Amino acid sequence: MTVPAAVGRVPAADLLIVGADVVTMDAARQVVLDGSILVRGGRVAAIGPAEQLRAAHPGVAELDARGCIVVPGLINAHQHTTASPLTRSTTPDDIDSQLAIFGWTVPLHEQVSGDDDELSALLTAAESLSRGVTTVLEAGTVGHPARVAAGLRTAGIRGRVGRWGWDVAGGKYAAPVEQSLALQEDAVLAVGTDSLVTGWVTLVGHGLASDELFVGAAELAQRLDVQVTWHISPSADDTRTYAERSGRPPVVHLERLGVLGPRLLLGHAVWLDNAEVDAILRSGTAVASCPGAYLRLGQGYTRAARHTEIIRRGGRVALGCDAHNAGDVPDVFRAAWLLAALDRDRGTSEPFRSDEAFAAATIGGAEAIGLSELIGSIEVGKAADLVVLDGADLGWIPRGDLALQLVWGDAGRTVRDVLVDGRIVVRDRALQTVDVAELRREAADRSVALLRRAGIDVPHRWPSVTAEKYELAGAPCA
Ligand SMILES: [Zn+2]
Repeated sequence: MTVPAAVGRVPAADLLIVGADVVTMDAARQVVLDGSILVRGGRVAAIGPAEQLRAAHPGVAELDARGCIVVPGLINAHQHTTASPLTRSTTPDDIDSQLAIFGWTVPLHEQVSGDDDELSALLTAAESLSRGVTTVLEAGTVGHPARVAAGLRTAGIRGRVGRWGWDVAGGKYAAPVEQSLALQEDAVLAVGTDSLVTGWVTLVGHGLASDELFVGAAELAQRLDVQVTWHISPSADDTRTYAERSGRPPVVHLERLGVLGPRLLLGHAVWLDNAEVDAILRSGTAVASCPGAYLRLGQGYTRAARHTEIIRRGGRVALGCDAHNAGDVPDVFRAAWLLAALDRDRGTSEPFRSDEAFAAATIGGAEAIGLSELIGSIEVGKAADLVVLDGADLGWIPRGDLALQLVWGDAGRTVRDVLVDGRIVVRDRALQTVDVAELRREAADRSVALLRRAGIDVPHRWPSVTAEKYELAGAPCA
């Protein structure tokens, strides 16, 4: 394949980011006005006045951020990086979930090649970085984990990657429990470990795992010392399935199996009863909330979700953006906006606030995925995953309260510069690690070929005509 090569990747060098309002998201939620940040060895080495840092560290290259806002890189804890990014906006929005899964998702995933997976991950990472998202956790539908890791590494984003698999029902990725677990372990080892991308255990979840596989996956994650994730209860379907299967709600069943705990990140967990919420809180299990997908798929989020309640009660919730064909884009600013907005619309007496939503996008998300020692806030010693928002953009004129404006405004479109692990990966809104023109060409070709192999003929809502055959509807203009 002709995967777009990394071009112009700037190595992590010392850098002084000068003159911004720094939203630290530290424990006191301090905003450092007219602050400067020294980046050294990929880490935040110092925060203070520019003159003081210049005097202490002469000769360091500078990034002028006067008038800008610097925030921690955003965290996306549930993102499908394969198949869907190459076929975005093709699954109709008037079909039921069964047809969407078995008519689209499954055939597409059965046809993806390693080249498709790597390019798709690169595309997802590139778009994520352009939106200020610096950490992406793959949600567990990957046929070629090492290739996905390669795509993420090329883009320069922080990531976690696992492998698609289950042991119930059939299909290309089904395997008996022992084999499934061996494949999971192989995937974690194949992804490798560097400062950015590592492997983790990923099951599809839902009703597609035996009790033995759930228990084995939790034990495997413990042994490999990695996190583990799977899907549960985005809609009421899993509740019905588990009532038939075990006579218990899904999360209560998982607690009985002994698989809940701080190492586990449940994708979705929207439809929960009181006992399930208590089990999540009691066990320290984390949840990835993807509000954009719940709206696009009509999953009843505002009727059922308890995510903001879990946060308020001290639980661990990160934001996610699910899949491109679930109507989601890898935009955690938008997910934070939805988390707060949907809670307000419930009419509760103490609705979720923008500052809480932005915390879920940053430090709260980091805590949920077990990385709060490394990322999620701008503090000395942490990784330099930083986003410079262009204060000259019309969206910041005039400047209001930062917590309000970061969520209720449109901060995501003002992303100017992005650093991951101290490396500049976006500069003046241009990706530094990816040749976007080449990415565009390759993605267009692979999209057409993948849909053809999957036997999918994309319906179009509106008729397309050539300019030569275009006819004015109705009476011609005078
Ligand atoms: Zn998902």
